[in-house]
Amino acid sequence: MSSAAVLPALFVSHGAPTMILEPVAVREFLKGLGGTIARPKAILAVSAHWETAAAAVGAATKPQTVHDFYGFPEPLYRLQYPAPGAPDLAQRVASALRDAGLACEIDARQGLDHGAWVPLMLMYPDAQIPVTQLSVQPGLGAAHHYRLGQALRPLRDEGVLVLGSGGLTHNLREFRGHALHDPAPEWVAQFRDWVVAALEAGRDDDLIDYRSRAPRGARNHPSEEHFLPLLVAAGARSPSVPGRRIHNSTTYGVLAMDAFAFA
Ligand code: ZN
Repeated sequence: MSSAAVLPALFVSHGAPTMILEPVAVREFLKGLGGTIARPKAILAVSAHWETAAAAVGAATKPQTVHDFYGFPEPLYRLQYPAPGAPDLAQRVASALRDAGLACEIDARQGLDHGAWVPLMLMYPDAQIPVTQLSVQPGLGAAHHYRLGQALRPLRDEGVLVLGSGGLTHNLREFRGHALHDPAPEWVAQFRDWVVAALEAGRDDDLIDYRSRAPRGARNHPSEEHFLPLLVAAGARSPSVPGRRIHNSTTYGVLAMDAFAFA
């Protein structure tokens, strides 16, 4: 269809908003990640921090940098990611989802939440690539998000980077009391190892049913929104190519910061 390079779909764990200012391995990883793939024509960020009942895609021409967090250090609130919006991509996403029988609304005002701009500011600091967001729908579950990813697969051939941004684990109730560089406790490590094994073996049915099949699935994800972007990215993979882990680290013990590529 076009001469654009085929891009992998990616999933990254964004952790706490302060990650962008902290001396952590995932920050260095994300700073190098953009250079490991062809430069996208446009980016579709699937962030855990935009939740809707039905799928929605942003169509703002100049999306605002949204500081959607409270009580963090003041310098975080001054960061801006002035990338252009991607209204054409929004239309393309909506039609791809509708063609697959999935509802999709277009939101003219949605900005970039920190699930999108924190990793993008590290990956593409020039903020020149048009970007928009696709929401997650926690009420519709894991299988629905895998189907979203399948519907988005053709966009990878058109130079679009599908970037899921959430957390491989995300239990904030057990976050307090942990120091930045604490190792993962056993219940986090077991879940991580299970997900990595399933992804790298291409066992997508297991991944979709992770809440009943994975060890400590519900403890690592008391709510699902940070895991669902991984399902979207995995759904966008080529059927013959399993996922591949491209980063593995931990912050605050309970936040596994792993990243995956889906070619
Ligand atoms: Zn988050």
